[in-house]
Parts: sequence; structure tokens; C-alpha cells
Amino acid sequence: MSEPFRKQTIRDIDVHPGRRLLVRVDFNVPLKNGGVADDSRIRAALPTIRSLRERGGALVLCSHLGRPKAPDPATSLAPVSARLADLIGAPVQQAPAVVGDEVSAMAQALEPGNVLVLENTRWEAGETKNDPQLSDQLAALGDGFVGDAFGSAHRAHASTVGAAERMHVAVAGLLLEREVSVLEGLLEDPARPLVVVLGGAKVSDKIALIDRFLDMADALLIGGAMAFSFFRAEGHATGNSLVEEEGVELARKALARAERERRRPVTAESANCRILLPLDIVAGDRFAEAADRRELDGVDVPEGWMGLDIGRQTVEAFSRELEGAGTVFWNGPMGAFEMEPFAAGTRGVAEAVADAPGTTVVGGGDSGAALHEFGLADRVDHLSTGGGASLELLEGKRLPGVEVLDDA
Ligand code: ADP
Ligand code: MG
Repeated sequence: MSEPFRKQTIRDIDVHPGRRLLVRVDFNVPLKNGGVADDSRIRAALPTIRSLRERGGALVLCSHLGRPKAPDPATSLAPVSARLADLIGAPVQQAPAVVGDEVSAMAQALEPGNVLVLENTRWEAGETKNDPQLSDQLAALGDGFVGDAFGSAHRAHASTVGAAERMHVAVAGLLLEREVSVLEGLLEDPARPLVVVLGGAKVSDKIALIDRFLDMADALLIGGAMAFSFFRAEGHATGNSLVEEEGVELARKALARAERERRRPVTAESANCRILLPLDIVAGDRFAEAADRRELDGVDVPEGWMGLDIGRQTVEAFSRELEGAGTVFWNGPMGAFEMEPFAAGTRGVAEAVADAPGTTVVGGGDSGAALHEFGLADRVDHLSTGGGASLELLEGKRLPGVEVLDDA
């Protein structure tokens, strides 16, 4: 299901020994007690880093981490550099800043195979403004650009776009290539039926995706807090469930569209997407691990209760859809899975996704975290490293961090 990739990659360029490459990676990882709490994103960048080092490249790696507005030791890339050194079994130098004389001198001194990690790009105010001066300074650190930060490719920042524009060679890394190929393949010609599972908190964030999949998918399974906007639109009681007011109108429109399509004969252009909502709900009397918990028979949530998970009948119904899927895309947990009493629905659906016979693709930070927590991350075909970026790509938007790269 992979589409031919439209951009040049590191396979297309000559990396002669000592060629200095500025590589934008996605090292935006969670930190804990001065170390890296989850290194999946660092591991995801290894194929590119290894390939370039094996060919003698001298690497200047850069990334943002968190959302600092100024230099702050709490968001230093130093713990990431230490973990990277362990993973590649070679020294990694940590620069003291993003740019500046000292950083330039360190970059100049790199030998073939050496790795230098710049400080957190968001320590520079110019980063998120795609500032020309910062872009110039970054571009001067290498004589070629490699974009491998898929998770940041939807942002036109100095390190993702400005620097790349200024370099005579700008190509994709292997992670970015794989992410874009898999996600675009999902849209191009998916093996059918295409079953899409959407959950999480906000309909308004994901309505463009719902619309898009109503055009393309065969079934759209909706869980998570998002389901309650649909239930409100249908006139069900929602109690204290998280209902997003502007989401209700969007949900109503989506339901009306699915209903219209259901009555239309199937054609090559219309997949006649069905929307499946939960059949039963698990409620709590508050949003807390220790909440009183009730398995509701149906979806009407009583006064004083809030829906926090999908029930067993729903897991069964969703699993049946997934069993026959040719392609699965899942984004957004089915409930407040961070709290064990309300995790069963997400776990059940995650297992069904993992067991699904077709190609399985998962996008979204929390959905990915859920898969890791349930030990199922290795059982899907593709777990995207980019939450927002994967959604924007599937919505049909062009990602600036991809567009800026040289065409194949
Ligand atoms: P993703 O990061 O995978 O795109 P989202 O960020 O949209 O997912 O949503 C994840 C959040 O939604 C989780 O923190 C989860 O607790 C919350 N959530 C899911 N279902 C419910 C619910 N019924 N009530 C309240 N919060 C929910
Ligand atoms: Mg999230």
C-alpha cells in the first residue's frame, strides 16, 4: 500500500566522508528525573542516523523538546544526547546552545561519523516564527539538510522549513519517508474494507478527519469522549459527560451525511461509510481513578454520572468490524484509559486492532501511548510518531516540512 515517495531521500544523495549534514529529527520526548522517560522517538530516528554515519556523514542533529519560550535547563537536549550515545554505541556531543560562535566551531570540527546535538530549537524565539536570521544561522551549520522530524513536519519553523529552504540540498530521512508513504497509501488505494476507529476528546479537532473518512472509509467507529457529542446530537441524556458544544452541531451534520449516503447506491466513488456509535457505556461519578463505576445498559448517562469508557457490547461490535478489515486506521482512545477502571474499552479495541488481518496504522500521541502500555505497539504495521502531523496529512493538507524538500 506504499505510494512512490515524491521527494528525494538520503538514498539519493552522495554522503562523502565528512560531509556535514544538518538533520532535523523529532527528539520531542518525555523527560523524567533528568532522564528520557520514553525513547521511542529517538529509536525511530536511528535508521537515518545509522545510514548517514555508516557513509561517513558528520551529523548536526536538531530538535525541539516541549514548549519552552527561552533557554531553560529543564528542557535541555542533554538527556537525549546521552540516550542517543547509548543507542548508537558512540560518543555524542551536546552543544551549549542552538546557534552561535561556539556551536559553529563545534560543527566545523566534526569528523566523519561524529554526531553533534544542538540545544532545544525552541530556546530561540525565532524558531516558531521561522525567523530568517535564525534560519541562516542553522543553515550555515551544514552543507545539506535532512528532514526526518515527521512529528514536526506540519509546522513551518526555522528548523523544519527556513533552514531547509536555504540549503542547496534538502532531502527526506527514512522515518519521514516511511510515515508519509504509509499514511498517503492509506488514502490512495486502501485494501477494503477500510475501517476507521476514532476516539479521544475533541470532535472539533478531528471533524476534518471525520469528513474525509466519510468520503473514503467503509465504517467509522466512534468512541471516547467524542461519542457524547454524537449522543447529544441524537437526543440522548449525557449527564456530566464531556460534551463539546460546537462538536454537537458537527456531529449532527456527520450523522446526517452518513444517513444520506446509506440510502445511496454504492458506486466506485462513494464508499457508503457507516458510522457506528457505542452501544453501551461505562460511567463514573467523577473523573478519577477512585470514582464509583457503573456499567450502563445502553448509552443514556444518568444525572450526576459521566461516560468514561465504552462497554463490553461495544467492544464486541467494534471487534467484529475490525475482524474483517482490509485496512485499519485508529486514532484516539475509547475512554479515559489512563485510569484502570476505565481502560478496558481502549484495551479491547487495541487488541482487536492488533489482531486485525489487514494493514493496521495507528496515529495520535495518546493512542500510541495506550498501545505501548498494553504491550501491543509491535503488533501493528505502523505506529506513527506524529500526532498532529499524521492527522493533517490524512485531512489532505500539505505538510510544510515535507513540501520544502527537493522533489524526486
Ligand atoms: P490522541 O492523542 O490519540 O489523538 P486525544 O488527545 O484526542 O487522542 O484524546 C486523548 C484523551 O481523551 C485521553 O487523555 C483520554 O483520557 C481522553 N478521553 C477519552 N475518552 C474520554 C471520556 N469518555 N471522557 C473524558 N476523557 C476521555
Ligand atoms: Mg492527545
